[in-house]
Amino acid sequence: MQGMMMNMPLSIIEILRYGAEAHPAGEIVSVRTEGDLHRQSYRQTFARVGQLAHGLASIGIEQGDRVATLAWNGYRHFELYYGISGMGAVCHTINPRLSAEQMLYIIGHAGDKALFIDMTFVPLIEALANHLPEGLKLVVMTDRAHMPESAVDLLCYEELLAGQSETFDWPELPEDTAAALCYTSGTTGNPKGALYSHRSTVLHAMYLAITISRSLYEGARVLPVVPMFHVNSWGLPYATPLVGASLIMPGAKLDGSSLFDLMEAEHVTASWGVPTVWLGLRAEMEARSAKPSALDQVVIGGSAAPRAMIEFFENQGVDVCHAWGMTEMSPVGTHGQLSAPMKELPFEEQMALKSKQGRRVFGVELKIVGEDGSRQPHDGTSIGELYVRGNTIISGYFNNEDASKAAMDAEGWFGTGDVASIDPDGFLYIQDRSKDLIKSGGEWISSIDLENIAMAHPKVANCAVIAIPHPKWDERPLIVVVPKDEDDKPGLEDIHALMEPHLAKWQFPDDIAYSSELPLTATGKVSKLTLRDQFSDFRWP
Ligand code: ADP
Repeated sequence: MQGMMMNMPLSIIEILRYGAEAHPAGEIVSVRTEGDLHRQSYRQTFARVGQLAHGLASIGIEQGDRVATLAWNGYRHFELYYGISGMGAVCHTINPRLSAEQMLYIIGHAGDKALFIDMTFVPLIEALANHLPEGLKLVVMTDRAHMPESAVDLLCYEELLAGQSETFDWPELPEDTAAALCYTSGTTGNPKGALYSHRSTVLHAMYLAITISRSLYEGARVLPVVPMFHVNSWGLPYATPLVGASLIMPGAKLDGSSLFDLMEAEHVTASWGVPTVWLGLRAEMEARSAKPSALDQVVIGGSAAPRAMIEFFENQGVDVCHAWGMTEMSPVGTHGQLSAPMKELPFEEQMALKSKQGRRVFGVELKIVGEDGSRQPHDGTSIGELYVRGNTIISGYFNNEDASKAAMDAEGWFGTGDVASIDPDGFLYIQDRSKDLIKSGGEWISSIDLENIAMAHPKVANCAVIAIPHPKWDERPLIVVVPKDEDDKPGLEDIHALMEPHLAKWQFPDDIAYSSELPLTATGKVSKLTLRDQFSDFRWP
């Protein structure tokens, strides 16, 4: 028997329409590329998004077209998220840190019709101009007064909006209509596209709102350090108008000092980003012996949050929510908020739980599959490859049949490429990416475990552990350390001493190397691939 309820398609523009009506005090504060601080309410934003949709139509954008962005976090980028998807087109965010070759590949693969760019990226696009597809419209996200001189044909964002009606007849789209496109950074091979729908995006925003509620509530002031060009800023631009939280957009200034000042000036209550950005904020907090006064929660994900980092923030009175996810999952899959009884546990035990990747969000199912293909129990010790299923997870990659087939198992679950265990309370623990695990004499060593311990050493600013081929053991771990002080480096024995209580001796790194910095991927994570390349000549003594 069928239920007798109305069936309205879930739609992204309805989030903003609701935010504008129900949360008139909600605002977007942006550090602009023009150099100033700009503020506008969700109500003003909804009106401008109407104008933008008319502007998009005026340059020939139609339903189904892909429209790309190359931009920092800011209100115009936010307007593009809603204007493009609202009219039925697809917002394709491009990561400016990709190589020129990868960028051209994805612009071509996506079949973009227009590209919206922040002023910062005009020189980058000028350099690529001869290789861009013919007819690609280029729009600079600024006003006429700030338009750069250029030999390339550039349109002006504010002129596209000027004089247009604020009312747009938003089409009622089937809820599985494509809305946004984001390519993985493609550590091996070409980048692959995750194509989100209106339905998956709205559901993901709701899942976030009910799960990471300490960041997301009416009146909260949230600063996404995680860029809008990477997995939709982890869904924050959709979740904030939904709950009535304001967005504080940092633009291009992501160093510790700029972040601290902006958080202080704008009373930021929560901020989300990858571990590497929190190294900068942490150093700034130590230098000033203070925390940004309203800051209540940081959400750390994208790679494992070291326990020492979690403890630092918690000791400053800032709650840490450790989250795990992937581009292919919209992205959030698990969150580290503790249950009420867990908050009563001693500090040490709470920190041990928070170092894990947390429990699944509603709507995401997890399974662990062993090497023999059998499903493993959630007992905290059985380890295997992590598979996921749910409405916010890709069913395949955009226009890429081979990669789609390789990613899914026979039951339709998506293989994450992560090796993990799940404990009886549902806490996920990521051991490693399968390609980063160290295979030593038939046993596995988790590089994340070793890094996590070494990060607690007071002389270590950052570190990464990689596998180096070994004639007898197959592979052995090498730890690469960025010392806090060049003249006072920690020795291998110092690192071993820290590891002694936690690990078996055969798991310790066999050697230590020093570096002034670690190579990062386009999404700001440590690039183990590049690091392995850098140490390809390394030989065990
Ligand atoms: P890319 O790094 O290619 O841009 P994603 O951002 O989608 O791709 O990265 C997803 C991967 O990042 C996961 O499969 C996992 O290996 C890693 N990851 C994400 N969050 C965490 C976390 N909290 N702890 C450990 N690893 C994480």
